[in-house]
Amino acid sequence: MRARDIDSNGVWNAGRYQVPLLGCDLPLPEEVGAEDESERVLFMTWAADFISDCPNCDLPLLGWTIMIHTKSAQMMPTHCCDRIHWYSTEGNEILSEYE
Ligand SMILES: [Zn+2]
Repeated sequence: MRARDIDSNGVWNAGRYQVPLLGCDLPLPEEVGAEDESERVLFMTWAADFISDCPNCDLPLLGWTIMIHTKSAQMMPTHCCDRIHWYSTEGNEILSEYE
């Protein structure tokens, strides 16, 4: 799953398939420290409510960048540099970034 394949509605454009992530089980990176390997996507918000610049390339976030929330983590796909950023629900620090 690449960041640029996830649109502002939280739909993952997986080639021939369009997969709405809301309600799906999302695999979490180990760094999140969640009990389960995956957690359900509970809701989505605008990432700009939390953060103004991309933590990777420092460009201002595109206004429609989304933050995807599960019980233990948040995932933010940034299109500027095609990265997926993970945060823990506690502390809001960046745990890992995936290209
Ligand atoms: Zn970026």
